[in-house]
Amino acid sequence: PTVRRVPLIAGNWKMNLDHLQAIAFVQKLAWTLKDASHDFSAVEVAVFPPFTDLRSVQTLVAADKLPIAFGGQDVSEHESGAYTGEISAAFLEALESRYVIIGHSERRTLHGETDEQVAAKVTAALKHNIAPIICVGETAEDLETHGASAVPVAQLRAALAGVDSAADVVVAYEPVWAIGSGQAATPEQAEQVCAALRGVVAEVLGDDVAAKTRILYGGSVKSGNIAGFMREPNVDGALVGGASLDVNEFAAIVRYQ
Ligand code: PGA
Repeated sequence: PTVRRVPLIAGNWKMNLDHLQAIAFVQKLAWTLKDASHDFSAVEVAVFPPFTDLRSVQTLVAADKLPIAFGGQDVSEHESGAYTGEISAAFLEALESRYVIIGHSERRTLHGETDEQVAAKVTAALKHNIAPIICVGETAEDLETHGASAVPVAQLRAALAGVDSAADVVVAYEPVWAIGSGQAATPEQAEQVCAALRGVVAEVLGDDVAAKTRILYGGSVKSGNIAGFMREPNVDGALVGGASLDVNEFAAIVRYQ
């Protein structure tokens, strides 16, 4: 029997929107989607605001019982202690974060995050019952020298090193050349790599876990191209950057059907 995977549309705000803007945004997003009779059990919605917004978003979501998930854009690999500037998985758990983005290419490139650190962060998140959204993807140079799949496959294998088969993980395939460039991968390119990534999950965690693991595509996703990605059998949603900052555009992506 085939397992039904609930698609996930996730908005990665990056360093945009302060806590007041976040409250207004999440309220408007919830109204817009409810007005459009969006079935939240058919397509799950999540936002990833800056850390300073999370408490405000959590309070709003809890008070109004909004069907919108949220989480951090990063997490420390450490449990607690002398790590100036870092945020622990325990703190994110205390704020009811369902997910956390880990290993985004901007963290890997601008902050030198290694595969080992990504793996440690994945373990830290799971220890606190937060599902990691593990980001992998090749640069334009990798694409030329190794093809599309090799680097993301290796990154995912490394990221899953400490994960056991009971864990709930999400994978996001984000080709670095497609992020913020306006040049998305084609649905066929995304499908090819997402299928290879599902193969890695099967190899490391078994077929049953692979069948239920959501694999997202990210990189210049918009309302105009989301449907093509969602038609692919191994693409189970999207991680959206720029287009997640406009409520109507993001709501249109959520309502791709
Ligand atoms: P983009 O970013 O949608 O602006 O290309 C995606 C991401 O970085 O997660």
